[in-house]
Amino acid sequence: MKLGIYGGTFNPPHLGHLTSARLALDALGLDELRFVPAAAPPHKAMPADAPAPEERLAMVELAADGLLMPGRVGASDMEFTRPGKSYTADTLEQLHAQYPGAELWLLMGTDMFLTLQNWREPDVITRLAGVCTFARTASDSLEALNAQAERLRRAFGAKTRVLELPQVVDVSSTRLRALLAEGEGQQYLPPAVYGYIIRHGLYGVHWDLKRLPDRELRACSYSMIRAKRIAHVQGAEEEAARLARRWGADEAHARRAAILHDCTKYLDMDGQLQLCAKYGIVLDDLERQAVKLLHAKTGACVARDVYGVSGDIYDAIFWHTTGKADMALLEKILYIADYMEPTRDFPGVERLRELAYQDLDAAVCLGCEMSIQEMEERGLPVHPNTVKARDWIKSHRKGTVN
Ligand code: ATP
Repeated sequence: MKLGIYGGTFNPPHLGHLTSARLALDALGLDELRFVPAAAPPHKAMPADAPAPEERLAMVELAADGLLMPGRVGASDMEFTRPGKSYTADTLEQLHAQYPGAELWLLMGTDMFLTLQNWREPDVITRLAGVCTFARTASDSLEALNAQAERLRRAFGAKTRVLELPQVVDVSSTRLRALLAEGEGQQYLPPAVYGYIIRHGLYGVHWDLKRLPDRELRACSYSMIRAKRIAHVQGAEEEAARLARRWGADEAHARRAAILHDCTKYLDMDGQLQLCAKYGIVLDDLERQAVKLLHAKTGACVARDVYGVSGDIYDAIFWHTTGKADMALLEKILYIADYMEPTRDFPGVERLRELAYQDLDAAVCLGCEMSIQEMEERGLPVHPNTVKARDWIKSHRKGTVN
């Protein structure tokens, strides 16, 4: 197995780290890559107001997840669980003991590579791992990197690899922190990391969460879900906005409902039940068994309580999974947008898409029918509200919906 290790302070992680990681994954043919945030970096002092270690780790986890290779790319807390300074030699010894047959590769930018001989135990580092480096800025010279690679080969017998980034992302965490404090720099961050920074008020970023512009609301939402779900949330937002324009609903509200509709999707049953207790959500027997039914209710409460959404948005999120009898326009729009947004792919989705723009009630009715049929085929109980939603539309639209 080829295992890459990308160490750093990651205060915060940014697109420079991710772009270089993606390149190294391919160039080295890594089976796995771990970002290893340093708890106590030996080579630089952490700023006094730096985020807590668990906050840095959480940001690195979000950044790693954003590469959309779960299982292959992740974050490691190994330097946080080890006392004392975070020496790379110790990290490599630990990994070598854990994976004796693995080929280890240490990834680093120019600044780190050019000073590697000054790190603690460079001989141990280069004995245990190959060193892969890349330029950080357009002015970093490849000749300097190659010359240093040659020096390390001669001094320690180091195995090295110098990569040329097709496009450098010329930013450092230090500059980014300064930009963020001025309300800038978002373009250097994966949106989920930006959202985490907003939610936790890090680096002098202070937003009123109840009055976030759409861009910041999206970032917060993406920081609460797995990266693989972001495409669905984006699809739902665009679909909800189109449907709102088609049917004369408030487009801004449709967007915000879709942006937040899955914000609690990844909480486990315990987390869901805690929110239900906090917000006084009363559950029926079925909901107590089916964690998938709870995120709509808890998500609506978080959207209202944390992000200050209005009642119509709250209702749309609350009912987006099951539907209910006598749905309001925004409730129908989110229900059907969630069902058939562009990333969805299942038999019958094209019919649903057509219908949603011709006859919204008929589309909602068909969506309910499809859910009921799917649950029955899988031998799972159907929530009564889905049956009520379908029956309500049928009885009020006699003869026109079938
Ligand atoms: P700081 O401003 O605090 O020095 P940094 O941006 O260098 O932060 P670190 O977490 O210290 O980030 O860096 C971790 C590793 O990422 C180092 O090996 C560094 O060379 C590399 N690196 C940092 N920024 C970039 C970038 N823009 N492009 C490529 N590699 C980078």
